[in-house]
Amino acid sequence: MTNIAILGSTGSIGRSSLEVIERFPGRFRVTTLTAHRNIDLLREQVACFRPDTVVVSDERTAEALRHHVNGHTAVLTGDDGLIEAVTRPEVDVVVSALVGFAGLTPTLRAIEAGKDIALANKETLVVAGDLIMRAVREHGVRLLPVDSEHSAILQCLQGEDAKGVSRLILTASGGPFRDMPWEHFSGITPAQALAHPTWRMGSKITIDSATLMNKGLEVIEAYWLFGLPADRIEVVVHPQSIIHSLVEFVDGSIKAQLGIPDMKIPIQYALTFPERGPSVSKRLDLVSLGTMTFFPPDMERFRCLGLAYQALRAGGTAPAVLNAANEVAVQLFLAEKISFQDIPGIIEDALAGHTPLMEATLEDLVRIDTQTRTAVHQRRAVVE
Ligand code: MG
Repeated sequence: MTNIAILGSTGSIGRSSLEVIERFPGRFRVTTLTAHRNIDLLREQVACFRPDTVVVSDERTAEALRHHVNGHTAVLTGDDGLIEAVTRPEVDVVVSALVGFAGLTPTLRAIEAGKDIALANKETLVVAGDLIMRAVREHGVRLLPVDSEHSAILQCLQGEDAKGVSRLILTASGGPFRDMPWEHFSGITPAQALAHPTWRMGSKITIDSATLMNKGLEVIEAYWLFGLPADRIEVVVHPQSIIHSLVEFVDGSIKAQLGIPDMKIPIQYALTFPERGPSVSKRLDLVSLGTMTFFPPDMERFRCLGLAYQALRAGGTAPAVLNAANEVAVQLFLAEKISFQDIPGIIEDALAGHTPLMEATLEDLVRIDTQTRTAVHQRRAVVE
């Protein structure tokens, strides 16, 4: 029996993870659920999975929840509660599905406590790839990607020698504005940007997909997970989202992983790795699919992708600055404070004002994240 803690259980990945876990009752047990404030869904999840511990953001939500859970489940709060919950001895695997920078500290603490990680929170590796990968080696834990592209690459690499790999090719759907002329970008509304053509996901990652920043973050994530330099990690736009990524080998062979766009498939692979288990996800029907198409990414309309490569090449804390500025820009866009085409400029300005620090500690990264967020808000206040 594998005991699983889910960080972010009421989000899209958290809900899909519970659907997977439910199908393997003799194999997985949910010990821990954490959520922000979606108390109604969390109550249902607690009733269904009977975890030992739940964690919510604040004491008021915790009080409300305590009225509904029986004595079996402890209710904790805040960052301290989160860290206490993921480091408990009974936890074997942590599904890290918080959104953004908030996922970093609990994921790092879980690794330090010897827990295996199923990683959906790509920002953790973007911000702190060096720190995280060193902790993974030092504590001998397994870090398995939940992100569909990285799951695809991991699957393609099984049975292969790292020396035989020539490049990684990440596929991107291209998002809802793939064919929209640049002149129309200023009129893009949050509702349009939230309507992703192939994947159903949370709002942060959906906006990142529309700007192609999501693919940029995934290039950085791939760099840390698979250890290839930036110039051997490529992106190709593939609107059908059927090939989830590819690996090219030195002999010119390419392996790809295909499937319908359903996050339950990569989540299950991360949880059952290296085995495969049966799944109720729909099957890919190649004949009804008929055609798959591929395009180069347009780096002029989607500047965020180029900025992510730039931050990766600059190294050190540059990706942490990229991430912080992007998180603020996405919030501002969703709040209708800036336009869609303002997003890359905000990130570019933040990177331009930063001299990367190499071998940063967690404290350095927290400080740089906070400083970057403050600087973005201050610069905007000056402009207004
Ligand atoms: Mg992805």
